[in-house]
Amino acid sequence: MHRVVLKPGKEKSLLRRHPWVFSGAIARADESIAPGETVQVHAADGRFLALAAWSAQSQIRGRVWSFAETEQVDPAFFARRLRKALQRRPARQPGAGMRLIHGESDGIPGLIVDRYADTLVAQFLSAGTEKWRDVIADALIDVTGLKDLYERSDADVRQLEGLPPRTGPLRGAPAASVVIEEHGIRLTVDIERGHKTGFYLDQRENRRIVRNLSTTRPGIEALNCFCYTGAFSMSLLQGGASHVLSIDSSGPALDIARKNMAANDFEAGRAEWREADVFRTLRELRDAGRAFDLIILDPPKFAPTPASVDRAARAYKDINLLGFKLLKPGGQLVTFSCSGGVNADLFQKIVAGAALDAGVDAVIEQRLSGANDHPVRLAFQEGEYLKGLILRKLEQQ
Ligand code: SAH
Repeated sequence: MHRVVLKPGKEKSLLRRHPWVFSGAIARADESIAPGETVQVHAADGRFLALAAWSAQSQIRGRVWSFAETEQVDPAFFARRLRKALQRRPARQPGAGMRLIHGESDGIPGLIVDRYADTLVAQFLSAGTEKWRDVIADALIDVTGLKDLYERSDADVRQLEGLPPRTGPLRGAPAASVVIEEHGIRLTVDIERGHKTGFYLDQRENRRIVRNLSTTRPGIEALNCFCYTGAFSMSLLQGGASHVLSIDSSGPALDIARKNMAANDFEAGRAEWREADVFRTLRELRDAGRAFDLIILDPPKFAPTPASVDRAARAYKDINLLGFKLLKPGGQLVTFSCSGGVNADLFQKIVAGAALDAGVDAVIEQRLSGANDHPVRLAFQEGEYLKGLILRKLEQQ
């Protein structure tokens, strides 16, 4: 097995069980290491640190399979890791969606697997998981007892690993779209062309919380920004909101949203779906003097990397400022960030700045995070990407 030796002092993060080896930490590595090959990582003083998958092109040059020198990285290893991850999962209602494998936090860096009813969708996002793709696919079928597995390895991060995008059926004969059930709502998931693996499972618990907010305030008028296929909108309607205006720039997502409305027997007139840019629409609504009881802001990742944090902060501030202005006094703002580069602290500061500039006083009623099938390893803070706040705009005192 090839050996990779780190520069002095660069062993610290691995000793803290952080699962990445950055290119800048490496003192010596053979040129002949193949992409995805398992290497032994050693400290400058020769101490063994970890077994990792090698990625020659990425800044994340190594992703740790194991901190144990005796571990064999072979088919049985993947079957074991998958089985353990499944054992840790919360109970799944029949027909529901669930994240089964959440990359680093489940001990398989670069692998995402979501289950939609009885269909599996996987993303192989690193050189290591790419090398073991067939082994992992077989093991997934074996440990879940399911037949159909679709591959959605078309996330941008594959470029950083020097891997081309790849999508298509991987095992069995998966259908192009699947209907899942979430808290009593039926939702269509476009596994071939939808975002990520087709759906935003990480918001499942938060949609239940939002449904409950509308239950306690029957008849509210709500605004759902970045609505995708309308899962938050329908949670609000289920809870008793009288009307929800939903905005997204994706026409295909809104087509599914309208289908979802019909499939759940929601009266079409209770919802308005607008294909538009949220930044512009919020200004139009403000200029038209509109006001809402509850507003959801769930934008895409504005800061995928630390380098884009400043620009992202301005974008978050902009939409939150407009959100505060569009809220009725006593109204609630449910605001999210899924940017890895913006932590919960910074997000709260940005939102506080937005409230200040909007001339609004607000209180934090609840802090939100990703659903519990998206575990976060304590040593891997990057896993904690989704954070949210439920804020209430105070009446003028
Ligand atoms: N809340 C959704 C997930 C939102 S993901 C859910 O629970 O399922 C972010 C969404 O923002 C995507 O659907 C994307 O199409 C949309 N989007 C991105 N930029 C936008 C913009 N400038 N204006 C409107 N929608 C945008």
